Amino acid sequence: MKDLNVKKIQHTLEEFVKERNWDQFHSVKNLTMALSVESSELVELFQWLTTEQSNTINEREEDFIKVKEEVADIFAYLLRICDKLDIDIEEVIMDKIQKNREKYPIDKSYGLATKYNQLK
Ligand SMILES: [Mg+2]
Repeated sequence: MKDLNVKKIQHTLEEFVKERNWDQFHSVKNLTMALSVESSELVELFQWLTTEQSNTINEREEDFIKVKEEVADIFAYLLRICDKLDIDIEEVIMDKIQKNREKYPIDKSYGLATKYNQLK
């Protein structure tokens, strides 16, 4: 995988939207709702699959194409939201990972799927 060029993607999305005069519909509220819808479309692709089927969906070309399209839709809306709110996606993700490191110390959370407030 190549390094992600967030600014390039955001610029391309902005151009796509401007060419169609769709920015009027892209309030942060609407973008957030669209993100939720696209997330549900991804979930729908996995609905009723077994764990094994879900983990190997990339081996079934037709299904995998659909997954990739929904992943792209989700990320596109997420980046539009970040653009509108001037959120640096790399910075906030790195900050969040650091917070989670503190919430989930390795010695207390190793191999456990326990929520941080119930770790011993
Ligand atoms: Mg979609």
